[in-house]
Amino acid sequence: MKNKCEICPRKCGVERCTTPGFCNETEKLRISKIIEHFCWEEPCLSNEKGVLAIFFSGCNLKCDYCQNIEISRGGVGKLYSIEEFTHLLKEKQKNHCAIDLITPTHFSKTLCEVFEQFNKEIPVIWNSNAYETTETIKEISKFVDIFLPDFKYSSNLLSQKFSSCKDYVDYALPAITEMCKQKTDIFDAQGLMKQGVIIRHLVLPNHVENSLEVLDLIKQNFPNRMLSLMSQFTPNGNSCLDRKITPIEYKLVLTHLEKLGITNGFVQDFESANSCFVPNFKN
Ligand code: SF4
Repeated sequence: MKNKCEICPRKCGVERCTTPGFCNETEKLRISKIIEHFCWEEPCLSNEKGVLAIFFSGCNLKCDYCQNIEISRGGVGKLYSIEEFTHLLKEKQKNHCAIDLITPTHFSKTLCEVFEQFNKEIPVIWNSNAYETTETIKEISKFVDIFLPDFKYSSNLLSQKFSSCKDYVDYALPAITEMCKQKTDIFDAQGLMKQGVIIRHLVLPNHVENSLEVLDLIKQNFPNRMLSLMSQFTPNGNSCLDRKITPIEYKLVLTHLEKLGITNGFVQDFESANSCFVPNFKN
């Protein structure tokens, strides 16, 4: 990569071959965790084989409540060359129903190179925070089958407060719009998603209003796409968001969901909000 990095809206302008930007990573793929047969994603994304979940190190947001802070900011993980990562995918893909790329945005360019030389036989999931440019979404659409963006905030004030990001909504909305333009929803005979978009939203404690407004935006902008509402927030001890959501908060969000008539998607059980996090989705 010879160009200065403008992969994401941060547009740091650093030479990623040698210098990490805001995301804390150079262009070389660093992976903090790989979980095989991962079955915690939405039911239409995995069968009994589970997905091959790949957790990339670093992140282009700095959410102070991050549930994976040691991965996103801890600088931990193993470096992989393009050849090594391609080999890993080749070896593992036959045992899984999808490849789940988790927080991959800052490695977009390197991943394009990987998938140019990798003959994939199962869908690739792009599991991101939606703070992305439409140019990057167009580029990665060549190899991504399923977009799984987390639409976090309805307000830039909130994204600035919690994620050091003054323009989250200005980028997330167009990014998800582009994802929807690129991929119509396609399922196989067993109901497994082969291509499409599922928009996630994690309810934050003390911020029901944010969730109601996010749902309004989803209804307005993406009325026919699948939604996945998540209750799993767990405090990390590093944020003023220092408790789980309450049953009343979740009920208020669910009531609004019903009022808007959004029925296409998944709602996580309230009990999912515990530190061992075994999410249980209902549709
Ligand atoms: S990917 Fe990283 S270095 Fe590139 S613009 Fe985004 S935060 Fe900056």
